[in-house]
Formats: sequence, structure tokens, C-alpha cells
Amino acid sequence: MSQNPPCRHCNQAGSRWPWPFYDAKCLGCAAREIEDSPEFWAAQAAGTTTPEYQARLRRHWGDDWKEGHQRVKEWHEHGQRAAKAGRNPGNPAP
Ligand SMILES: [Zn+2]
Repeated sequence: MSQNPPCRHCNQAGSRWPWPFYDAKCLGCAAREIEDSPEFWAAQAAGTTTPEYQARLRRHWGDDWKEGHQRVKEWHEHGQRAAKAGRNPGNPAP
């Protein structure tokens, strides 16, 4: 994880998922935004980091895009745990 402390929106997202607010200067927020993007879902479906997905990561992390990918995956897992815990009633039950 980054050395920077999470911003208030990332803090909120940690306890209330999904949290629809983002700070443009925060990499944690960038990761959350990408986690919710069509590029990420397409990459998940393809089982690889697609060029389109990499391009989104590179916009924030440059050559360290794999670090960004790691953070996106962390949010994704967090989101899945939150959904399982019933904090996301907007999603249909499995
Ligand atoms: Zn943030």
C-alpha cells in the first residue's frame, strides 16, 4: 500500500461500500474508480491485464501500473466481502 494515509473518501469506502465519492489527487480513489470501470471488468473476464486496463492504470501510476493493479484488486476484494456481508442490497442475491 501507499505511504500516504487514505483520504476521507477512502476511509468511508473502507466501512461503507460502495462509496460514490472520489478525490482527484488520491491514488486510493483512482484505484476505486478503476475497480468500477468497464476496463477492469473486461480484464477480469479476460483473466489478464488488457491493454485498455493497463492504459487506465498508467494514467495514474505510469510504469508502476502493477502497483495500481494491486490496489484495484484490494478494493475489488473489499467490495466482494462487503457485498457478501449484505452491505450492498443493490446487488441481486447469488
Ligand atoms: Zn481516496
